[in-house]
Amino acid sequence: MTGKVDPSKLVCQICKKQKSADNIIPAGLVRGPIAEKIKEAFPDWSSDGYICTADLNRFRSEYVEDMIKQDKGEFTAIEEQVVKSLREHELLTRNPNIEYEQQLTFGERTADRLADFGGSWKFLGIFAGIIILMEELSEKRSRS
Ligand SMILES: [Zn+2]
Repeated sequence: MTGKVDPSKLVCQICKKQKSADNIIPAGLVRGPIAEKIKEAFPDWSSDGYICTADLNRFRSEYVEDMIKQDKGEFTAIEEQVVKSLREHELLTRNPNIEYEQQLTFGERTADRLADFGGSWKFLGIFAGIIILMEELSEKRSRS
């Protein structure tokens, strides 16, 4: 028996939970590569069914993660942050500290982090000293 969709029967194919119409979309609207990814994980996936937005967002961020990994072979810390923030987008925008951080330029953020990390110039001085020392040592070793 086919017919009109009963809104009380909007069940996500992935988590099998019933969702309100605001939190679920028809599976047919999911785009190509992401639909492929879902099919890999859920072979029973049908484009006639539904998927909740929470699950769809999870697959989206996994997809972005895959793209970056394929491209680089590895994940940098910054990229990891980006993916994490995609995933936790709602949480992030509610966190006033992070909202503040998003308003800073990349340079300002980096400066902030360096200052936090190393106690600023003192740390950088020691670090430079260690590098010079190591270079001298390796030079001596290659001469002998
Ligand atoms: Zn779901």
